[in-house]
Amino acid sequence: MSTNKRRIAVLGSRSVGKSSLIIQYCQNEFVESYYPTIESTFAKTVNFKNAEYDCEIIDTAGQDEFSILNSKHAIGIHGYVLVYSVSSRNSFEMIQVVYDKIINFCGVTDIPCVIVGSKVDLEKSRQVKPEEGLKLATDNATAWVETSAKSNINVGRVFELCLSEIEKRTPNNQAE
Ligand code: GDP
Repeated sequence: MSTNKRRIAVLGSRSVGKSSLIIQYCQNEFVESYYPTIESTFAKTVNFKNAEYDCEIIDTAGQDEFSILNSKHAIGIHGYVLVYSVSSRNSFEMIQVVYDKIINFCGVTDIPCVIVGSKVDLEKSRQVKPEEGLKLATDNATAWVETSAKSNINVGRVFELCLSEIEKRTPNNQAE
């Protein structure tokens, strides 16, 4: 079984739960008050569809539409996870802005990408309907899923979808 390296960047507004999602995925825990101020990288080896993937997951620290995408997040990245919180419409509106920035920066029309509606356990304060998330994903030809890092809902699914989006666009496992 060959091992493939995949670099995945996780982007989105501040406090949408990017770190919590990655920590739940890589370390199987929910840390209530984890406030990183700098960017960090996590590693996880994943078996997916009969292949082994060494995933490097980059937890980005951008805060607004100007700093959210740094040029280093557009080079050498195989796939993107764009996170909004279902309880924050502003964070949802930021997704199209970030998506367009990546597309423009990379000079491509299509990127392997999963749009994630996080904090789905906060149903009472929901501001973004599932249909709106799905429509945004369909309009941009990306995958989409709603998650909760706190309740451990669909966390693994995010990264499986991302690997799958990467493989779709990379025939014969040739991602470099
Ligand atoms: P980041 O800035 O996007 O990396 O967000 P964090 O992971 O630091 O999370 C921001 C805040 O949201 C923290 O107080 C987390 O405990 C909380 N949070 C993260 N994920 C969830 C979730 O799935 N459900 C709930 N209810 N809170 C969450």
